[in-house]
Amino acid sequence: MEKTFVMIKPDGFEKKVFKEVMERFLEEGLSIENIIITTLDEELVNEHYSHLLDRDFYPHLKEYLLSGPVVTMTVFGHNAISKVRNMIGATNPLKAAEGTIRALYGNKEDTTQNVIHASDSIENAELEIKRFDNYQKRLVR
Ligand code: UDP
Ligand code: MG
Repeated sequence: MEKTFVMIKPDGFEKKVFKEVMERFLEEGLSIENIIITTLDEELVNEHYSHLLDRDFYPHLKEYLLSGPVVTMTVFGHNAISKVRNMIGATNPLKAAEGTIRALYGNKEDTTQNVIHASDSIENAELEIKRFDNYQKRLVR
């Protein structure tokens, strides 16, 4: 049993694809818990994408993630991390395999807008689940 952190990004929220995305996970035999609609703040985005802070596209990425609501959730089940990563497709929607979530719904003109985030390893899944739990606790304080 594995747990992974998934976030429907603002473009995915705007396009209302979260219902279909969640249905796809369930159809794969995965389960979902802790579904939260929220908005991010700059501190959280800087932490979540700390591996990209020095990239030229970072300001654009940050602006995108702050542009509207997101849906966060924990997805769990057998091989959840690799299953979900395969279902979402490659980072760039233009390079994502046919039928994947990013290929179907990603923005072909602005490839930063790729609809969805999912953890890429067991270590990052644990970190990210904790990070967003702490974020909700910070918000209610
Ligand atoms: N990103 C981008 N240009 C790039 C690489 C990444 O706009 O060349 C954005 C994209 O939204 C991506 C996010 O930054 O989902 C995080 O990048 P990462 O390399 O972690 O890709 P992911 O794990 O999301 O596939
Ligand atoms: Mg990543």
